[in-house]
Amino acid sequence: MNIALWLARSAERYPQQAAIAYGTQVWCNYAQFAQRAARTAHWLQAQGVQPGDRVMLFLYNSPDYLPLMWGIWWAGAVAVPVNAKLHEREAAWIAQHGEARIAFCDSKRENDFTQALREIGVNTGVAASTAFMLQEDAPQLPLQVRSDDDPVWLFYTSGTTGRPKGVVLCARQLRSCTLAYFGSVQSVERGDTMLHPAPLSHGGGMYHLPYVLNAGLNVVPRSDGFDPHEALALAAHWQRASFFAAPTMVRRLVDAARTLPERPQGLATIVYGGGPMYLADIEEALQVIGPHFAQIYGQGECPMTISVLPKSDVLDTRHPRWRERLASVGHVQAMVEVRICDKAGAELPVGEVGEICVRSELVMAGYWRDPEATAKAIRNGWLQTGDVGRLDADGYLSLLDRSKDMVISGGTNIYPREVEEALLTHPQVAEVSVIGRPDPEWGEVVVAFVVCRTVLSVAELDAHCLSQVARFKRPKHYHLVQSLPKNNYGKVLKTELRTLDAQHLQTKA
Ligand code: AMP
Repeated sequence: MNIALWLARSAERYPQQAAIAYGTQVWCNYAQFAQRAARTAHWLQAQGVQPGDRVMLFLYNSPDYLPLMWGIWWAGAVAVPVNAKLHEREAAWIAQHGEARIAFCDSKRENDFTQALREIGVNTGVAASTAFMLQEDAPQLPLQVRSDDDPVWLFYTSGTTGRPKGVVLCARQLRSCTLAYFGSVQSVERGDTMLHPAPLSHGGGMYHLPYVLNAGLNVVPRSDGFDPHEALALAAHWQRASFFAAPTMVRRLVDAARTLPERPQGLATIVYGGGPMYLADIEEALQVIGPHFAQIYGQGECPMTISVLPKSDVLDTRHPRWRERLASVGHVQAMVEVRICDKAGAELPVGEVGEICVRSELVMAGYWRDPEATAKAIRNGWLQTGDVGRLDADGYLSLLDRSKDMVISGGTNIYPREVEEALLTHPQVAEVSVIGRPDPEWGEVVVAFVVCRTVLSVAELDAHCLSQVARFKRPKHYHLVQSLPKNNYGKVLKTELRTLDAQHLQTKA
């Protein structure tokens, strides 16, 4: 199917229903949303875009982002949403790699982006205006016929190491992740609201799909990004509002909510994920913001959800293992099979730690034009996530770390996440990230980067850590820092921490 059929149907059934809002104002209803998409599709075709061609979106969130995306699909083409915070040169590399025919970009960076494309000899056309979609008399293209296995979204990974890879997602994957949302996160009624404080170009962007299918309202904040006060105000305005928030965003929401005279209003669900949510942080968020949290664990290669910790579990405080479950990434969702494997790919018994492997129709079709990387990632139909975890007897999945982040000290595996969790229970510790430092005696030793709220001594941190975890896991060295280096999606850049640590050692030597 052409995924844009969902928009056509919502427009047929509920033409007057509010579809997209910009801040507190409705920007278009479903009839207008579909018309704008069909005009975009016509415009694209007039530029020579054929079904299967790639069209890039190098844009910050804006109300016309979604009509552009659905217009691309309406024309049978493939959307390539790209992180708007990338440098023009990085975006140009993606345009070249994905062989984008057209790229939409913000008018302010049109010249720099065009220049960057020229420098590497790419002939992608650059479009900085979307005026065509608002012209009442502009022609509209009929919905193009596509199959379930035609690519629709080329999802460039955040690339915390090396060049990003283009994950190919087809209608099949987008449909499955939408159904997983209904099945495991929450149902969506007509008029329910999804806010978009997170970039539409990344995982958070997928959350708009269930809301188009069921004629909900997608709201783009006026700040075109994440302002915690604005997000909470928009929830209070629109009501029954949900949104995706990375853990760093949740922390900022908590700080913002503390300044309000009462608990935030209008929230349905804040879905958190995309990185580790520490126990201390989620407990605080529940206390300050309220009973509105559900967690997902997924990755670009298996979008939106591998596992879900639904609101009912997050709130089940009377369960004897509530805290354990809160620290997990929930249970495996209906459309996914998970197994934990050892290095040789053999399945491990319940309770043992190994790589999380996934089989599902949600799993990507492959990496764009990279059969070698695809063969490495998907073996015998199982996606190797690169995440280390364990399943418990009740089917809850715990994520320990990325396999490359695991520290092996004196032949014993140490999961940085455990040490981070322990340090974060100290009330004056704001953020922590733990890495391994190469060591001639131990192979690796544990090193912690800590952001404190007040002045804390290394001795205090060490004593606190020792009161929580085994002695061999305790950091051998602490870096007390003002902030942690993060990528544009708020993920801590452990590679940068390793470099900082190595530089520190050099200056000491
Ligand atoms: P990306 O493909 O950029 O969305 O990154 C996906 C990676 O983020 C996963 O492979 C995990 O390592 C991490 N991640 C995603 N969701 C969670 C979660 N709920 N808890 C901990 N880590 C997560």
